Amino acid sequence: MSLRAIDQSSVHKLTSGQVVIDLPTAVKELVENSLDAHATNIDVKFKQYGVESFEVVDNGDGIDQENFEGIALKHHTSKLRTFSDLSSVATFGFRGEALSSLCGVSSSVQITTCTAAASPCATRLEYDTNGRIASTSKVAGTKGTSVLVTKLFDGKLPVRRIDFVKNFKREFAKCISLLQAYGVIKVGVRIVVSNVLATGKKTILFATNGNSSVGDNIVNIFGTKARMDLLPMSLALNIPRKPSLYRPEAGPSATVIKVVGFISQPGPGLGRSAADRQLVYVNNRPCNLSTVIKRINECYRNFNTTQYPFVVADFQVPYDSVDVNVSPDKRTIFLHDEATVLECLSESLSEFLESCCGSMPTQISS
Ligand code: ADP
Ligand code: MG
Repeated sequence: MSLRAIDQSSVHKLTSGQVVIDLPTAVKELVENSLDAHATNIDVKFKQYGVESFEVVDNGDGIDQENFEGIALKHHTSKLRTFSDLSSVATFGFRGEALSSLCGVSSSVQITTCTAAASPCATRLEYDTNGRIASTSKVAGTKGTSVLVTKLFDGKLPVRRIDFVKNFKREFAKCISLLQAYGVIKVGVRIVVSNVLATGKKTILFATNGNSSVGDNIVNIFGTKARMDLLPMSLALNIPRKPSLYRPEAGPSATVIKVVGFISQPGPGLGRSAADRQLVYVNNRPCNLSTVIKRINECYRNFNTTQYPFVVADFQVPYDSVDVNVSPDKRTIFLHDEATVLECLSESLSEFLESCCGSMPTQISS
């Protein structure tokens, strides 16, 4: 067979399916866009657990008219200009792929947006599969943006649609857990997540209150009792900077990584029997860091052999010591010198837990 380039439309479909893997990644991309747009109010609305549609409505900056053409085109972003910007990127998004991918894998994407300057006149835009504007209309609105995605994967990725429809409850539960991770860490932002059934019955899954502390967000999402069993935690990990092939320039001799959050009090009966509610962040970004979670659980096991801790841990890391561009969904993060970070974490967390239990015996089983 002769060698040929894959046509653009097929490339679009192939790559879009990697950015939008499932319902949780689809919805998280929209919420991240709202947060990047400085929203303080975010409504996440599911219809039929997301099987019919989902919509994220925010009161953020809105989108300028000059950007309407470009926002849903692959690798069009207002957040990153060149690859070197990646070492200082503080926004959730930077690849300019989410909206374009959603257009590629769903039945329809409709965006209604309004900037402060344009208010009260908003624009409603429909985008086609390739991320080009299919229709535009003027509607009344206030500052902010809403993105409505209908029938995820339908007609585009049939295998995934079938799996999604079959397992919608599981997908929805995963989605709520992921949204809770954002709800916990984002202070000063009110996040309300609801679902409407075909019958019109509406359920609020959780709502935060625009609180100024993570502790109050935990109360809103998991309840007062859950918060009472947690200890505020603040660790400082001193990571010696090894001479690196890639960083020959002389820099500071150590990097300090702060780990800030909450953990279940040490001791029997104070943790949780299932390994859920284990939320790890890097610079406020919820992420999959299973090695870190494993290490935290190992430390906690010295104080409680039957339960896992409820943990919320934000690793505050210099931006040039992490690589968030490992997977298109940005959930996997590469930590510079992870092995040393894990060692320092074990030491520091064990000391912290020991200091919290004072004279308690260190090994208790029930
Ligand atoms: P990225 O977030 O990586 O830039 P996206 O495809 O998610 O890529 O979004 C493309 C662009 O659309 C963003 O860079 C931003 O300029 C704009 N945008 C998307 N969602 C919103 C929103 N809710 N409010 C304001 N601007 C938005
Ligand atoms: Mg984005």
